[in-house]
Amino acid sequence: MDCYGLRAVDSSDFVNIDGYVVDRQIVESLDKLKESLSGAGFALRIESAYRPFERQLSIWNRKAKGELKLLNAEGLPMERPTDEEQLMYAILTWSALPGASRHHLGTDLDVVDGNACPEGYEVELTPAECDGLFRPFHEKLSELIGAAESFGFDRVFVPGRGKIQPEKWHIAHLPTSRKYLENFSLSELKALYEKTDIACKSALLDNLETLARDYIYPYFV
Ligand SMILES: [Zn+2]
Repeated sequence: MDCYGLRAVDSSDFVNIDGYVVDRQIVESLDKLKESLSGAGFALRIESAYRPFERQLSIWNRKAKGELKLLNAEGLPMERPTDEEQLMYAILTWSALPGASRHHLGTDLDVVDGNACPEGYEVELTPAECDGLFRPFHEKLSELIGAAESFGFDRVFVPGRGKIQPEKWHIAHLPTSRKYLENFSLSELKALYEKTDIACKSALLDNLETLARDYIYPYFV
């Protein structure tokens, strides 16, 4: 069993759904949500689910090295800052802190409407898609959430909460994720960074309290 900040991971807790790994406790609710959406003509399709620490670390380090595109708050490509702290904040615009990503929980999913995707369409997970291709899907999802008919699923990255950009496509099964978030420890995360080969390490360690205040705790909902 590994403990990486957000939750201790035991493989028996997980199941594979459509090629994605999720916590088995969310499956029943997810099936019901899919069914509701399907009744309205939408096909909830998972684009991302559980991500282990190593995967988030790899995304983080590749963005820092310039191997993956850095996007600004508007979702447009931006130049890579040379200052370590600025670079760290630039990555944080769209990528969670390794060890503190809600995708480590197995209770959170990035979703789109499979029915709205044209043949061969490559999903980007951008605000523009949510206002375009997937707009009707997100409107329906908002309606279900607003009516408390989303079986425990809700959006987490919403306007006015913390400093992570709003992500309409990211939904979480809150009753399940709450159980794991109770065990989060910032000092464990610090210890993890100290022994990990992570880009912007000094900036992360120097700013950890502030980062937790802006990028971690606001999303413990
Ligand atoms: Zn997500």
